[in-house]
Amino acid sequence: MQVESSLLVETPELMAARIFRELKPRTDLPVIRVEFRAFTNLSSRIRLRDGRIIIRISDLLRDAPEPVIEALIGILIAKLYRRPIPAEHQVRYREFVNGETIRQELSEVRQTRGRKQLESPGGLHFDLDEVFDTVNAEHFGGTISRPRLGWSRQRARTLLGQYDPHHHTIVLSRVLDHARVPRVVVDFVMYHEMLHIQIPVEQRGSRRSIHPPEFRAAERRFPAYAEVKAFLKRLHGVLR
Ligand SMILES: [Zn+2]
Repeated sequence: MQVESSLLVETPELMAARIFRELKPRTDLPVIRVEFRAFTNLSSRIRLRDGRIIIRISDLLRDAPEPVIEALIGILIAKLYRRPIPAEHQVRYREFVNGETIRQELSEVRQTRGRKQLESPGGLHFDLDEVFDTVNAEHFGGTISRPRLGWSRQRARTLLGQYDPHHHTIVLSRVLDHARVPRVVVDFVMYHEMLHIQIPVEQRGSRRSIHPPEFRAAERRFPAYAEVKAFLKRLHGVLR
């Protein structure tokens, strides 16, 4: 008799079912679905919907050893039912995700997956590479390391600028790449986002302040601050 090798491997669904039965032996086994998703991090999710358990795991863990997947599923199911997380599972999972291989893979994936969202820095009216260089020279003495720069694909009206520390990327809304927008406004939005590179997020207890007092003070040092703020207010623009 021939036994297919795939039958010797316990699928994530079967693993989850086994773990569920151990945890809740008197409850009917629900339908359990395990999906691997292209996340840019290792965060996994579990939820119970219409009596079905759906588990989503980063596809970075698709080739992880079975005991690691089992540990992760064990952790998620314990969390779902608010049970203590088995220490053995915790340790096994942590050791794996803190290992060198997975960290390297993660950083590569972040770079390539993060790259999709933005378009080239050369706009119709303003070139973000040139804007960055000018603002860097004028306001930071050239000390800010160059992030990836790009105009947003959508002409977002409210969120005008954003710095993503994860990908070291500054994105400005394409709505600013317009003849009616004064250059000083584009400079200021860039300046604001560059301040995020210089001034880290402040953690006060459980609260995170992305614009701590030190940040606001630096922002006010921008020469045309009042005019620019007035212009942005008319646009109802927000900067992150
Ligand atoms: Zn900001």
